[in-house]
Amino acid sequence: MSVWILRLGHRLPRDERVSTHCGLVSRALGADGIIFSGQRDKGLIESVERIVDKWGGNFKVKYEKNWGKLVKNFKNKGYFVVYLTMYGINLPEAIGEIRGKSNLLVIIGSQKVPGDVYDFCDIQVAVGNQPHSEIAALAVFLDRYFQGNEINKKFGGKVRIVPKRKGKEIKTN
Ligand code: SAM
Repeated sequence: MSVWILRLGHRLPRDERVSTHCGLVSRALGADGIIFSGQRDKGLIESVERIVDKWGGNFKVKYEKNWGKLVKNFKNKGYFVVYLTMYGINLPEAIGEIRGKSNLLVIIGSQKVPGDVYDFCDIQVAVGNQPHSEIAALAVFLDRYFQGNEINKKFGGKVRIVPKRKGKEIKTN
């Protein structure tokens, strides 16, 4: 089973925070890696990699300028390509079919999405047919795909949180 995320159209400086959060959500909610496209941003890649280094997991972070070629490569390797957009089939109707696929490439856009992304995907999926956010759409999609099991994933990092009702505690592993 392999789940990769492709974040399209990253723009400096305005998407720095949102794209970082796309990376963090992808990692924390069970994806294997994220590929950023759009403007090349070394700082973005490094900030997600710093989290992986400290908090663990085998999450990979990459940049690819030519996203069309990248999607074709994933398709040739047998990945099912899901494009998250408010114009898609609503998640409850689509998720059964998608859970049957073990290798996924999940595409999320930004403010402007290239028109031909529609031609590249196997299915467009909406997390509700209303406009909202790529971070939220990604989180809900991953949670539904993994059926909540991703929340219990072990990361084995340099540090770990000791869960508390109040206050905070971090231990070094
Ligand atoms: N005007 C853009 C469009 O036509 O898709 C919306 C941009 S929205 C700020 C950024 C990204 O969030 C979209 O490209 C899409 O990936 C995701 N998104 C927003 N609403 C969504 C929804 N209801 N379902 C799934 N994805 C959504």
